[in-house]
This record gives sequence, structure tokens and C-alpha cells, in this order.
Amino acid sequence: MLQQTQAARVIPRWEAFVERWPSPADLARAGDADVLRAWDRLGYPRRALWLRRCAVEIVEHHDGRVPATREDLLALPGIGPYTAAAVASFAFGVPEAVVDTNVRRVLARVEEGSEEPWAPNAARDLAAYRALVPAPPPDDATAVRRANRWNAAAMELGAIVCTARTPACERCPVAERCAWRRAGYPAGPTAGVPRRKQARYEGSDREMRGRILHELRATTTAVPLDALHDAVVRGGHDERFARALASLEADALVVVDDGAASLPS
Ligand code: SF4
Repeated sequence: MLQQTQAARVIPRWEAFVERWPSPADLARAGDADVLRAWDRLGYPRRALWLRRCAVEIVEHHDGRVPATREDLLALPGIGPYTAAAVASFAFGVPEAVVDTNVRRVLARVEEGSEEPWAPNAARDLAAYRALVPAPPPDDATAVRRANRWNAAAMELGAIVCTARTPACERCPVAERCAWRRAGYPAGPTAGVPRRKQARYEGSDREMRGRILHELRATTTAVPLDALHDAVVRGGHDERFARALASLEADALVVVDDGAASLPS
């Protein structure tokens, strides 16, 4: 939910979501349409469907309990290495290395003396990070807790102190060992390279997908395609409509049947 939407807007939606479906079994019993309605405009609606499929797998293969190991989490639909490690570490206290964009930047600066990572290399970054995370004996609960706190601390350091544009080195707890600082802050590999502008949302196919989903979320019956077109195009003809509808169908977010569209049941 937080991928594309600010936390302040996400929190009420998240609270309503977990109140309605507090356990994997509850979510597994829900219909895709209801889950998509609850997801509303949080962005990346396919994640809502993945989340429900994940809940179904958890019910079928894990007795309704979210598994605690990285391996079992990774086997679930829609869960990648980062999410698996984060859930294992933050929800279950398993000392897994959690490497996000912020941690990767801190690693590049402190360890490699580079302003930013040279190229995204998840395997390399994970290995480098694992070498730094305290490796607690599994039977030492205090040490295990410390290792997980280390994860949270590294993420916060990157998010709040060692930010991409304005690192606050004067209040950085690892300033003494930071190779980039010691080297005098040499420019990184993308210095001077113009940043790629984010594609405009207005007028994009994404915007049209959002409008179509908005219309379909508002009703529980199938909407004839002509009426749907008129509702979302608002006069005239827009070639994005057919493209957006086809892509929503391909993503299993919309079902088109007998000349009418609806959310999947
Ligand atoms: S000293 Fe500065 S650049 Fe180095 S890790 Fe700390 S905040 Fe980042």
C-alpha cells in the first residue's frame, strides 16, 4: 500500500482493511472485487489480488498462519526477497538481512566510498550487508533482537540521516567509519547525468486505467462497454480506452464478458 501512496493516506485504508480481514483465512474467503474496492486508489491494484492469493496459499499450505522463514515466505505468490526478509525480521524476529534502497545507499557510502551504488546488484548488496549484520547464535534471544534492531536502524539511517541529496553527516552515528566522507565526497557515477523525468500521469494509459477501475469499483453490476466509455472518456473518442481496458483484462483486474465489464468476482 505504501509503494505509491503517502503514509498519511494509507493508514486509514490499512486500518479498515485489517479490521475487515484480520487474518489470512478471512482474506482468503473474500472476493477479488471486494478486495479491489477496499484497496481503492492506493496504486498497484494487482498487489491487492496478489495479497489475496497469498492468503489462500497460507490457508492451504500453512494452516492459516503466516510462515516465519525466508524460504517459506519466498514461495508465496507476490513475495520477493526484500518482502520475505522484512517479514521474517520485523514480524518474527528472524535475523535476516533486509536491504532496501536506503540501506544500499548507506552501504555504498560507508563501505565502498561511493556516493551511490554503482549498479543495482541485489545478490552483491545482500552478501555485503550480511557480512555486516551481527550474526547472533540462534539460542541467544537478546542477540537476535539486537540483530533485528540493526536492520531497522540501518533503514532509518538511510531514510533520515544519510539521505540521497543532503546527508546530515554532522549527526551521523557512523561518520567515523564512512569511506565516502573520508574520501572527501567524490561525485558518484551518475553525477551530472540528467535525471529521467517521471512520465506524466495526466493523459497517460495509467490515468485511463485508474478511471475505468474507479467506475467499476462504484457498482456491483457489469457495465456495458459503451456506457463505461462514455463515463470515463467524458466526450468524444479516446484511443487510450481500448488499450487501458485490454491491459486491465490482461492483469485480471477487469473481466469483459458479453459486451460489459466488471471487477473479477
Ligand atoms: S557520514 Fe554522511 S555520507 Fe557517511 S553514512 Fe553518515 S550521513 Fe552518510
